[in-house]
Amino acid sequence: MKVLVIGSGGREHMLVKTLNMSSRVSEVFVAPGNAGIGLEATCVDINETDFDQLIDVAKEKQIDWTIVGPEVPLTKGIVNAFREAGLKIFGPTKEAAIIEGSKDFTKALMKKYQVPTADYQTFTDAKQAINYIKANGAPIVIKADGLAAGKGVVVAMTEEEAIDAVEDMLLNHSFGDSGARVVIEEFLDGEEFSLFAFVEGENVYPMIPARDHKRAFDYDEGPNTGGMGAYSPLADLADSQVDFTIEHVLKPVAKAMVKEGRAYTGLLYAGLIETEAGVKVIEFNARFGDPETQVVLPLLENDLIDVIEAVSEGRDLQLTFKDAFAIGTVVAAKGYPGTYEKGIALPKLPEDEDCYVIHAGTKQVGDTFVSNGGRVLLVGSVKPTIKEAHEAVYRYLTHFDQTDDFFYRKDIGKKA
Ligand code: AMP
Repeated sequence: MKVLVIGSGGREHMLVKTLNMSSRVSEVFVAPGNAGIGLEATCVDINETDFDQLIDVAKEKQIDWTIVGPEVPLTKGIVNAFREAGLKIFGPTKEAAIIEGSKDFTKALMKKYQVPTADYQTFTDAKQAINYIKANGAPIVIKADGLAAGKGVVVAMTEEEAIDAVEDMLLNHSFGDSGARVVIEEFLDGEEFSLFAFVEGENVYPMIPARDHKRAFDYDEGPNTGGMGAYSPLADLADSQVDFTIEHVLKPVAKAMVKEGRAYTGLLYAGLIETEAGVKVIEFNARFGDPETQVVLPLLENDLIDVIEAVSEGRDLQLTFKDAFAIGTVVAAKGYPGTYEKGIALPKLPEDEDCYVIHAGTKQVGDTFVSNGGRVLLVGSVKPTIKEAHEAVYRYLTHFDQTDDFFYRKDIGKKA
C-alpha cells in the first residue's frame, strides 16, 4: 500500500514513522515534508493547499490512502476535493472541519447539545463586546472565531487586556476575516488535557489522554506557543474523568455532527480542562494534535492503516495501547514564539536506543541539518515508567546544552 501524508511538522514525521512500521505499507510520500521526514519517506515539494497538484501526485504515484496533518487544507476542503477525484483520504470534509474552523459554530453546537463548556457570547461589534467585558469583568478569554495558527486566543487577566484584544481583532483586523467575529468566554481554571478519537459518523474510538505544555518556559511561565512538550498517559487523571469525556463530550458531539448534516470522519481532537465543576471543553481540532501525537502514536499497538481502514469502512475496532509512558520535549529556536532566526546548524543527533527524534522545523543543507522554524524538533522516549522516560529524554537533550541558539523546557512530565 502507498500512503501520502500532507504536512511538514513533527506530527507528520510521527505519522510517517508509524506508517513505516506497518507491514501493509510499502511506500510513504509526504507533501511537503521536512529534513527528518526526508530520511524516512519521499518528500514531494507541493504546498498543502495546492489540491490540484496533490491530486495529480496521488494519481500518478497510485496512492491508496492520503492522511491529512494540518487544519488549513481540511477547512479548505481537501477531503471533498480528493473524494470528488475518487481518491481515499482520511480526515473530515470541509463541512465537518468547521468544528475547528469556527469557534462560534462549535460553541453554539455545544450549547444546543448540552456539551459542558465555558459560557460565552459572540460579537462582531466592538462596543457591544467591550460592554460585555465590563459587565463580566476579568479574567476573561477572547477568541478569534476563525483559524489563527494557534495565536487567536487571549486569556486576559485584566479588563484592559481583554478590551485591547477585542480592539485588535474587531477594529484593527489583526487576524483578517478570522477575527471579524470574536467569541468571549468565561475563564476556566484547572488542569488541561487532550483526548483524541477516531470518528466515523456516530462511531467513536477514543485513544488515551495526553497533556501538552503550551507556555514557552518552565513551570508554565511565558507566552503561549504551539506546544513545548507532551506526555501520555496521565496517571493524575482519573479513569472516571476520561469515561465522562467519552460519554458526555466525544459521543454526543459525533452524534450532533450527524444530526446537523455534517457527519465527521477522521481524527477528532478534544481539548479539555478539569475544573472544580467537572470536565469542560476548551476547543475541538479537526486533526491530530501537535505535539501530543508524538507521544500518543508510539503507544498505539494497532497498525495505523488497519485502524484508518476499519474506521472509514464502519467496521468495529478495538484500540489497544502499550502499558508504558511516553514523554516528548520540544527543542525551539531562541526567541520563539516571538522572532527567531532560521538556518542555524543543529548539533549531531546520534541514534539512541532509548529515544526517538522527531523533526518539525528542519531543513537539510549539504550534509547538515539546520533549523527552519520556531519549533525545531522533539525528543521522545517510551519507557515502563514516566521517570525512566523523563530521564532518557533529558539525557539526550544534553546534546543541545553547548549552544544557546536553542532552548527546551526542563519540566515536561514533571507534574506526573
Ligand atoms: P485554544 O486555542 O482554544 O485551545 O486556546 C489556547 C489556550 O488558551 C488553551 O490551551 C488554554 O490554555 C487557554 N484557554 C482557552 N480557553 C480558555 C478558557 N475558557 N479558560 C481558560 N483558559 C483558556
